[in-house]
Amino acid sequence: GNSKSVTLIGLGPMGQAMARILLDRGYAVTLWNRTPAKVEELVQQGAVRAETVGGALDANELTILSLTDYDVMYTIFEPASEQLAGKTIVNLSSDTPTNARKAAEWLADRGARLVTGGVQVPPSGIGQSGSYTYYSGPREAFEAYKETLEVLTGTDYRGEDPGLSMVYYQIQMDMFWTSMLSYLHALALAEANGISAEQLLPYASATLSSLPGFIAFYTPRLDEGLHPGDVDRLAMGVASVQHVVHTAEDAGIDAALPAAVLQIFRRGMDQGYAGNSFTSLIETF
Ligand code: NDP
Repeated sequence: GNSKSVTLIGLGPMGQAMARILLDRGYAVTLWNRTPAKVEELVQQGAVRAETVGGALDANELTILSLTDYDVMYTIFEPASEQLAGKTIVNLSSDTPTNARKAAEWLADRGARLVTGGVQVPPSGIGQSGSYTYYSGPREAFEAYKETLEVLTGTDYRGEDPGLSMVYYQIQMDMFWTSMLSYLHALALAEANGISAEQLLPYASATLSSLPGFIAFYTPRLDEGLHPGDVDRLAMGVASVQHVVHTAEDAGIDAALPAAVLQIFRRGMDQGYAGNSFTSLIETF
């Protein structure tokens, strides 16, 4: 498996960064992309252009995909189904765990095995130390191509279930988008009160940097399913979030985000968790 030869399909910003680093490290790289112009640039740097998807698959045991999502994989592979037998596909496109599992079955039906990957860095992080990608799928297939995959980023193999890389990926995204939106909402509130993003930066950073301490404190309790109200009570949380909603309304900014938080807190109250910690909302979720 560790020959320095690989096929890469998909040349968005991510695929282009991957192609460049593989070429830099002396790999023979066969490329296919829907828009051929993106292949041409890389051919000048030493890549080989495949005329068809089937030809791209034929060129190597290993094909790496970097596409918008898993639907694109079917679009691309359906006409080249015959060429899939015996191949290892490493799909580095992001999608849901369910779609990753379905894709593994679809490829298995055609004699190919699927390793899934969720890349944790933007294109600028490809080839940089400290960057990593979650992988899952058949361990043997992952191990066979680990050396090649580590040219792209560090690897964090999460297990045999092909959906696992996407579970970890989407868990990260769940936190990332909600946290970043909470920051933007706080900035809107700050700006409505004459405070700039630059002025907010140390305060926003301090608040976000305090979160690992809270998570660590609550982790053993969460794993035991215990939500005692000794440190915080949901009823107190409701009053606190209510103040945030009213502060936003008074400042004339959209309060939909904290209002959604308040609604979830209230559902916990209705379920009888008023005297418990806000972590009892895990039961609500
Ligand atoms: P893009 O959406 O820009 O990649 C698009 C690629 O998919 C191109 O090669 C494009 O071809 C191809 N494609 C899209 N639709 C079709 C279609 N219908 N038929 C054939 N080919 C198609 O994404 P990125 O390069 O930014 O990212 C690739 C993957 O990596 C995504 O799943 C993304 O979520 C993930 N990722 C991206 C990060 C980022 O910061 N960019 C960070 C972490 C993960 P064409 O060139 O012809 O348009």
